[in-house]
Amino acid sequence: MPRNAGRPVLAALPVEELAVLLSPLPGYRAKQLFSWIHRGAGTFDDMTDLPLPLRAELSERFALYPGEVAAELRDPDGTVKLRITLDDGYCVEAVLLTDGEGRRTACLSTQAGCPMGCIFCKTGALGFRRNLDSAEIGSQFFRLKGIAGDIANIVFMGMGEPLLNLQELRRAAAVLTGGESMGFSPRRITVSTCGIVAGIRDLGENGPRFRLALSLTTADEKLRRRLLPAADPLPAVKEALRQYQEQTGQRITLEAVLLGGVNTRPKDADALADFAAGLNVAVNLIPWNPVEGLGFEGRPLREPDAGEIARLELWLGKLGLNVTRRFRKGRSIGGACGQLGGTPTG
Ligand code: SAH
Ligand code: SF4
Repeated sequence: MPRNAGRPVLAALPVEELAVLLSPLPGYRAKQLFSWIHRGAGTFDDMTDLPLPLRAELSERFALYPGEVAAELRDPDGTVKLRITLDDGYCVEAVLLTDGEGRRTACLSTQAGCPMGCIFCKTGALGFRRNLDSAEIGSQFFRLKGIAGDIANIVFMGMGEPLLNLQELRRAAAVLTGGESMGFSPRRITVSTCGIVAGIRDLGENGPRFRLALSLTTADEKLRRRLLPAADPLPAVKEALRQYQEQTGQRITLEAVLLGGVNTRPKDADALADFAAGLNVAVNLIPWNPVEGLGFEGRPLREPDAGEIARLELWLGKLGLNVTRRFRKGRSIGGACGQLGGTPTG
C-alpha cells in the first residue's frame, strides 16, 4: 500500500480497492473520489460535491498522491515539467508536452534512475535507484491532468526503462484504461524501450497492447554495444518486434537519438534500413539534447548540426523509410528527451 507521510495514498487505485480502503463510507463515495482523481483534482478541497466535514476527515486519514511536487517548471514553448520528490527522497520527473494543434501528451517515468547506462542519457548517468510503484506512476498522469485538462496521449519516455517495471506499469495502466475511469485507450499509450526482449514478448503475449517504440539509435551492433551497453542484441530484438507486430498489427516507431559525428553517417542510414526491412515502422529522429558532462570514449558528445540531420533524413527517405523529426520541446527547463534527472538525491 503506497503511503505519503504515513497516510495511505488514494490515487491510482482501482475503484474497488478504493471502496475497501474508504469503508465504512458507502460505495458511492469511492466512485465520487475516483472520478475527481481522474479529473485531476489536486486536493480533497477541490472535491466540491463532498460535504466539508468529510473532506476534512479524508485529508486527515489519507493522501491523494504519493510524494510532493518539489517544482513546477514552465518552458516558454508551453512544456511543463513536474519534479516530484517521493517519500524516500528520490526524485522523478513528469513532462507535459503540447503539439502545434494543442494536443497534449504526458511523458511519464517508470523508475527512479535507470540501470541501462546509455551513455547519452542523463537518467542513465544517474544509475538505478528503484522501480516506481503503480501509484507513483499513475499519479504523475493525474497531477499533469490537473494542470492540463485534456490529455490525448501518454508516452512512457520519462525516466527509466518501462519494460523492466512491467508489473507496476500494467497496474497503473489498468487504472487509466479501465471501464470505471475515463477509459484511456491503450492505443494512445506508447511504451518506449531500449530493447528488452523478455518485456516485448511478455507484452505481446499478455498485453495490454500498447504502442511500442524502440530506442534503436543505431542498428550497427558494435556501435550500439558502446552506446547502449545493457540493451539486448539486435537480432533478438528484431524478432521480438516482428512477433509483437504479428500479434497486434501495429506499426512500431524506431527512435534514433542523433549524436553529432557518431551515428549520422551514410552507413548508419543503411544499417537502419536493413534493420527495418520486414517490419512496419516509422523512424523518429531525435537530435541529441545536451547533458553536461556526457561524453563518448573520451570526447564530449555534441549535438548534430542542421546539415547532418537533413542529410540523414534524406538518405533514410531515399531508402524508403517513413521519417519524422522530433521537435525540441522543453529544453530551457531540462524537460526534453534524455534530460530528465532530478536533483542529486534522485
Ligand atoms: N528507457 C526508455 C524510455 C525512456 S528514454 C528508452 O530508452 O526508450 C526516452 C527516449 O529519450 C529514448 O528514445 C532515448 O533514446 C532518448 N534519449 C535519451 N537521452 C537523450 C538525449 N540526451 N537527447 C535526446 N534523446 C535522448
Ligand atoms: Fe535508461 Fe532509456 Fe536513458 Fe537508456 S535512454 S539510460 S534505457 S532511460
